[in-house]
Amino acid sequence: MSYDFDLLVIGAGSGGIAAARRAAQHGAKVGIVEFDRLGGTCVNRGCVPKKLMVYASHFPELFSDAQGYGWSAVESSLDWDKMITSVNAEVTRLNGIYQTMLDNSQVEMLTGRGSFIDAHTVVIEQDGEAPSTSRQVTADKILIAVGGHPVKPPILGIEHAITSDDIFNLKPQPKRMVILGGGYIGSEFACILNGLGIEVTQVIRGDRILRGFDDDLRTEIQLGMSNHGIRFLNNIQLIAIEKNDEGVTVTVGREDGSADTVIADAVSLAAVGRKPNTQHLGLEMAGVKAHGGAVMVDKYSRTNVENIYAVGDCTNNINLTPVAINEGRAFADTVFGGNSRTMSYENVPTAVFTTPEAATVGLTEAEAREQYGEAVQIYRSRFRSMYYVLPGKDEKTMMKLVVDQTTDKVLGAHMVGSHAAEIIQGIAIALKMGATKANFDATVGIHPSSAEEFVTMR
Ligand code: NDP
Repeated sequence: MSYDFDLLVIGAGSGGIAAARRAAQHGAKVGIVEFDRLGGTCVNRGCVPKKLMVYASHFPELFSDAQGYGWSAVESSLDWDKMITSVNAEVTRLNGIYQTMLDNSQVEMLTGRGSFIDAHTVVIEQDGEAPSTSRQVTADKILIAVGGHPVKPPILGIEHAITSDDIFNLKPQPKRMVILGGGYIGSEFACILNGLGIEVTQVIRGDRILRGFDDDLRTEIQLGMSNHGIRFLNNIQLIAIEKNDEGVTVTVGREDGSADTVIADAVSLAAVGRKPNTQHLGLEMAGVKAHGGAVMVDKYSRTNVENIYAVGDCTNNINLTPVAINEGRAFADTVFGGNSRTMSYENVPTAVFTTPEAATVGLTEAEAREQYGEAVQIYRSRFRSMYYVLPGKDEKTMMKLVVDQTTDKVLGAHMVGSHAAEIIQGIAIALKMGATKANFDATVGIHPSSAEEFVTMR
């Protein structure tokens, strides 16, 4: 049987584009379906615009630190609209780069929303188009790479809350903001908005932000965020959001029956997790199994249907751009490149771009103790880095190594402090190679740096 394409990718985000280009390099005839801008969440509504706003949020601190080094005070104010416009212009530039990359790879763009008719056929519809004018294409293999979207908690007045999708177009600059949720997105935006001069209250249902991360890291980040002026409301249940003359009032309750209200301008930000974009994909038409909306796959990213695969956030595996890219390339190499390989989920490093920044790789102390019990040895260091001495700021850096004493293997490395992401990326290579604590100790430090602490901990 002949098909229109060897591979049809549904979704032109990080994972889909990486897979499409790699498969085309292997000689496959590839089409990619997308209704929105190229690049998916990461480029359009996530990593890229977020990181640009992180940079923007650091300038007030830099201006004030500079005075400790003898610079005169800087009088500067933020033009919010200009920042938003500049950030979006960069996103548009990247959309163009992605288009060029696809064109150069000879991947055919199919604009519209794709959904399954059967296991080899996808219908592509434009929004508002009559169904009769939609296009159907067939493919030997189909890759689902449709990503995810933010969810809103089902509370009264939630329509007055925006999500991280909307924040990059938010105008005018709010003065007060309530953030619901203590995960990656809630915590990063709490810091961005706080740094940009907005009064931020972060509402979390546990006692600390960033559940799942190492406990020392969670405590240190939250302490740092509090010191930077973010107000936390812990151990709460969300009750309602109400719009009124002052803006919005967010009412939260606690188990003991007490309640608090927080007033914000215009909107609050709901950052309580994300869900796969699989609702309108017609998975059932192709017989593809999903669990809680997430496409179920094996270690080769293959679904229960022999010719259909899925990568990235729609599988709800690890929702990180580099993971989706690696999954996509491993899929393409296996299926079209004659090189059968799988993505390794061991020691995937990750960073949280809060202020202070945090990054981590490997096991948390709690996970290590569960797996290795008494054999776990912890090395921890907490200090003020040289940079903060002259500005007279009590900013702390925290570094931690989790080691299995039996084998001397380093199981986990965690850091809170400036450049944590840059530092942990290098440490992650060592962990991936199975480095021991003795290997760390035998490595000469770079002096003076914060990173050298990782090779001098005793
Ligand atoms: P997360 O899953 O990281 O966090 C969700 C947060 O919302 C948790 O604090 C959770 O609390 C809270 N929550 C969930 N349901 C409710 C509720 N009904 N009421 C109140 N609070 C609730 O989701 P995010 O949306 O922050 O991020 C999604 C994913 O995106 C991340 O897991 C990550 O993989 C990815 N991401 C990565 C980034 C990076 O690499 N730097 C940046 C941004 C996103 P509790 O802890 O109690 O469950």
